Amino acid sequence: MTPPIILVAGAGQAGYQVAASLRQEGFEGRITLIGDEPGLPYQRPPLSKAYLLGKVAAPALRFRQAEFYEQQRIERLEARIVAIDRAARTVHLADGSSLPYEHLVLALGARNRVPAVPGIELDGVLGIRTLADADTLSQRLAQTKRAVVIGAGFIGLEFAAVAAARGIAVEVLEIGQRPMARALSQPMSAAFDAAHRGWGVRLHYGQGLERVLGEQGRATGVRTSTGQQIDADLVVYGIGVLPNAELARDAGLTVDNGVRVDALLQTDDPAISAIGDLVCFPSPWATAPIRLESVQNAVDQARAVAARLAGKPAVPFGALPWFWTDQGDLKLQIAGLSDSHDATVLLGDAAQHQFSVLCFRGGQLIAVESCNRPADHMASRKLLQRHTGLTIAQAAEPGFELKAHEAATRPAA
Ligand SMILES: Cc1cc2nc3c(=O)[nH]c(=O)nc-3n(C[C@H](O)[C@H](O)[C@H](O)COP(=O)(O)OP(=O)(O)OC[C@H]3O[C@@H](n4cnc5c(N)ncnc54)[C@H](O)[C@@H]3O)c2cc1C
Repeated sequence: MTPPIILVAGAGQAGYQVAASLRQEGFEGRITLIGDEPGLPYQRPPLSKAYLLGKVAAPALRFRQAEFYEQQRIERLEARIVAIDRAARTVHLADGSSLPYEHLVLALGARNRVPAVPGIELDGVLGIRTLADADTLSQRLAQTKRAVVIGAGFIGLEFAAVAAARGIAVEVLEIGQRPMARALSQPMSAAFDAAHRGWGVRLHYGQGLERVLGEQGRATGVRTSTGQQIDADLVVYGIGVLPNAELARDAGLTVDNGVRVDALLQTDDPAISAIGDLVCFPSPWATAPIRLESVQNAVDQARAVAARLAGKPAVPFGALPWFWTDQGDLKLQIAGLSDSHDATVLLGDAAQHQFSVLCFRGGQLIAVESCNRPADHMASRKLLQRHTGLTIAQAAEPGFELKAHEAATRPAA
C-alpha cells in the first residue's frame, strides 16, 4: 500500500527531485516539502561558477517556478525541522508546531566545514554553500584585490578560476600535494595545476591555514602552517562538508559519515528513507559504503526512492557516479570513482587541454576523467555500465578511441 502522507525534509537538489518524481511516478497522496532556506528550491553548481561571474541571475537557478508546486500539489513550507519523533511519526518545527508523516524522506544535505583557526570569525572570511553565501561573495568580489582560497578541491578551485578571471590576485593553500587529489588521478591534477598557474593563480601545496589575520574586525590576510604570511582582503574556504545528520542521530538512526542507508536507501526505520549529500550508502562502484556530493547522486537517489514509494518494485540502488567541474575554459567530466586506481592510460593532448585519463584497478576500467572531451565522457558512462572488459593494452594502442570502442562493443538491439 502506498503511504498517503510523504514528508520531505530538506528542499535542495534531492528534496525537490523526490517530490517532483513522486508525482511523475503516479503517487497521489499528500507531499510536503520542508526547507529552511528562503525562496523556491534552486540548484547549487552555478553558485561557484556562472552565478559568481554574473552570467546567470538568481531566478534562472530555480528548478521550477511557484506554479509548478501548485499544479503538482506539492506543499512547500519554509521552516526549520528541529526534531523527529519516530514513535509518533511526526517532525517538530522551530516554531513549535509539528507535522505528521507516514513516510519521511531525509534530504537535509550538508554544510561547509569551517576551519577551526583563530580569526575565522573576521569579516571577509566566507564559504560557499547557499545562494545567500554567493550573494555576499559577489558583493565582496567587487571590492577585492587579493583573495586567498583555503583548499584546492572542486569548489575552492572553481572560485579561484572565477576570481582570477575577474582580475583578482589569487593564492590557494592546499595541505595535500596536488589539486583535487581526493577525486582525481595524478595526470589530471597536473593539468589543472598548470592551467591555474597559466591564469595567474598561485598554488601552495603542503600548507594549511594557521590563522586569519585581521584589523578592526576585518580580514587582512592569513598565516600559513609553514609560517608564511599572505595579504588578502578576502579569504574563501572550501575544505569539504559535514552531513546534516544530527536530527537523524538524535532520533536514534545509525549515523557514520552521514545517515546510513541500505541498498534501497532505507534507514534503520522502514518509515524513513534518506538521500543525497546526507547519506552513506553501499555502492557497487565503491569498495566500501560511500557518501557522494553530486547532482547526479542526489537526483538518481531521489528518483529511486520516489519509484519505490510510489509502489514500483524495489531495486538496489546502483547508479554509476558521475561528476563535473567548470574552471576557466576547462570542463572536466568524471565517470566512475577513480580513488583506488593503480594504472592510467592517457588519450588525447594534455597540453592542449583536450584529453581523457582512463583509470584502471587490477586491470579493470573503473573511471574515466575527460577534460574538454564530452564525447569521451558519454562513451565512458556507457562502457563502465556495460563492463565491456576493455584492457589496458587495448586502451594504450595507438589510435584507440573511446567512442569507437563503445560503438564496436554495443550489444545488438
Ligand atoms: C557551490 C557548489 C557548487 C557545486 N558544484 C557542483 C557541480 O559542479 N557538480 C555537481 O555534481 N555537484 C556540485 N555541487 C554539489 C551539489 O550541489 C550537491 O551534491 C547537491 O546540492 C546535494 O543535494 P542535497 O539535496 O543532498 O543537499 P542540498 O542541496 O544541500 O539540500 C539540503 C537542504 O536541506 C536544508 N536543511 C538542512 N537542515 C534542515 C532542517 N533542519 N530543516 C529544514 N531544512 C534543512 C538545507 O538548508 C538545504 O536547503 C556543488 C555544491 C556547491 C555548494
